[in-house]
Amino acid sequence: MQVPAQFEYRRATSVADAVALLARHGQGARVVAGGHSLIPMMKLRLAQPEVLIDINDLSELGGIGVEAGVLRLGAMVRHAELLASPEVGELVPVLHDAERVIADPIVRNRGTVGGSVCQADPSEDLSGAFAALRAEAVIGDGESVRTVPVREFFTGPYETVVGPAELLLELRVPLWSTGSAYVKVDRRAGDWAVAAAAAALRVVDGRVAEVGIGLTAVGARGFVAAEAEEHLRGGPATDAAFAEAGALAAAHCRPSADQRGPVDYKRHLAGELTVRALRRAAARAGAGAVAA
Ligand SMILES: Cc1cc2nc3c(=O)[nH]c(=O)nc-3n(C[C@H](O)[C@H](O)[C@H](O)COP(=O)(O)OP(=O)(O)OC[C@H]3O[C@@H](n4cnc5c(N)ncnc54)[C@H](O)[C@@H]3O)c2cc1C
Repeated sequence: MQVPAQFEYRRATSVADAVALLARHGQGARVVAGGHSLIPMMKLRLAQPEVLIDINDLSELGGIGVEAGVLRLGAMVRHAELLASPEVGELVPVLHDAERVIADPIVRNRGTVGGSVCQADPSEDLSGAFAALRAEAVIGDGESVRTVPVREFFTGPYETVVGPAELLLELRVPLWSTGSAYVKVDRRAGDWAVAAAAAALRVVDGRVAEVGIGLTAVGARGFVAAEAEEHLRGGPATDAAFAEAGALAAAHCRPSADQRGPVDYKRHLAGELTVRALRRAAARAGAGAVAA
């Protein structure tokens, strides 16, 4: 049986209290949200916090709302809550696509949006989706807040810009896209991605006015397929253009071989899934790509 090392447990009463506890206990402290990444790591002794700061009572980190063209998701919004929101499904269906393929209802009932992005697992599904949507992360230290584009939030595998005495407060999704989609290949239902792609599009008069492409589990920097986006922006929203974007996404990602598959297979998936996500996003934008 795997059991964590001994730790002290504190239940934060406010964001300021959580941050004060983090500051007081330094590197030995970690916050726990849904616990679905941190607790398994503690059981395996890959993480050994001396003090665990529970942020589950912080209602100020909850809630889903739309304000001035921006979807706001509190860091403690559970996966299941996001999936149950008709507003999210209508405005940014890429998030519902991604949530449907994250683990199972038990994980989705506890795991949080904030915990997912703060974990910064290269195979995390929401990170690619938020990167495609050009979301922003709002980070606070109890006194001031700062906003960081999600594309600059990840500094490496399992590393983010959130400081040791800071909390992720919310994610803000600007509502510029008119269609979006997420497509994933996993070895069995609910498993982590072998590879996945997210696409968000704004199509005007058959042309790509704006585009975001996120890639999961294939070593794309910041989860973004930047070259593919650049290729599409301003051009026609056609199957031929999407195929070219897919080829660029495949060429520029950096997958690693592991138990989920070899490099060539993952690279092929990155390209093919990019094309499929773009086609589905275009169809949802009411601008189904035309063969060219
Ligand atoms: C069996 C299983 C299968 C899974 N499959 C998938 C999958 O297919 N796809 C997928 O994307 N995910 C998957 N997950 C992960 C799941 O989505 C987790 O819920 C998620 O990774 C972490 O969210 P959490 O709220 O549980 O975070 P926690 O485990 O509580 O925390 C994770 C990390 O984030 C930090 N943290 C949490 N909240 C904050 C905050 N507000 N501010 C600063 N730091 C914070 C913690 O200190 C910790 O370092 C799976 C998990 C399990 C157990």
